[in-house]
Amino acid sequence: MLRVCRSAIPAGSLIVVEKELGKVVPMQEKLRVVVVEDEALIRMDVVATLEEADFEVVAQGADGEEAIELANEHKPDLIVMDIKMPKLDGISAAEKIAELKIPVVLLTAFSQSDLVSRAADAGAMAYVTKPFKPTDLLPAIQIALARHEELTALESEIADLSDRLETRKLMDRAKGILMSKMKLSEPDAFRWIQKASMDRRLSMAQVAKAVIDQLGQKASDEDNS
Ligand SMILES: [Mg+2]
Repeated sequence: MLRVCRSAIPAGSLIVVEKELGKVVPMQEKLRVVVVEDEALIRMDVVATLEEADFEVVAQGADGEEAIELANEHKPDLIVMDIKMPKLDGISAAEKIAELKIPVVLLTAFSQSDLVSRAADAGAMAYVTKPFKPTDLLPAIQIALARHEELTALESEIADLSDRLETRKLMDRAKGILMSKMKLSEPDAFRWIQKASMDRRLSMAQVAKAVIDQLGQKASDEDNS
């Protein structure tokens, strides 16, 4: 079961996503979602998929301006939003919504790389190409929530921007090493570092650096052999 839950630990980390057998089940309260899509049939599909997976759809909209209004009004845990919409496109809306620190999953009928990189710059945490299946949408949501959790944890740890960039680079390298050495998924690699940091009372940057120092050299030796 794919279990999406709020967790009391660690402080600053809002959402914990645990993998179990297949469906999304909230452990405590349902995750609140806003869905914004100008094509009514697709919007209904998204809403049905989310409700089937036990999310609470708190509001629906049909253009980018509405997306920003609904985000401000409802402060949802997640926004699922189309890119191509009237008034304001989904990427421009995601840029505004990023300021509210709400994770966004973008729906796109296009797989053009310029749109995708604009979406990444806008702070969109994941995207899904239409036509989507529940098996596409739900993992994208899981990724968006996990990345959001990671960003939130990092932000609470580091206030300074240059430290943050440096830590981000260390974290990315350390996660890559853990993913290849320990066969972990990206969210699990992050959680491994986060847990080691809490257990040993070290910063996540210190743990990441230790991972790189102790495992990274071996990894590159093996790559070269
Ligand atoms: Mg559209």
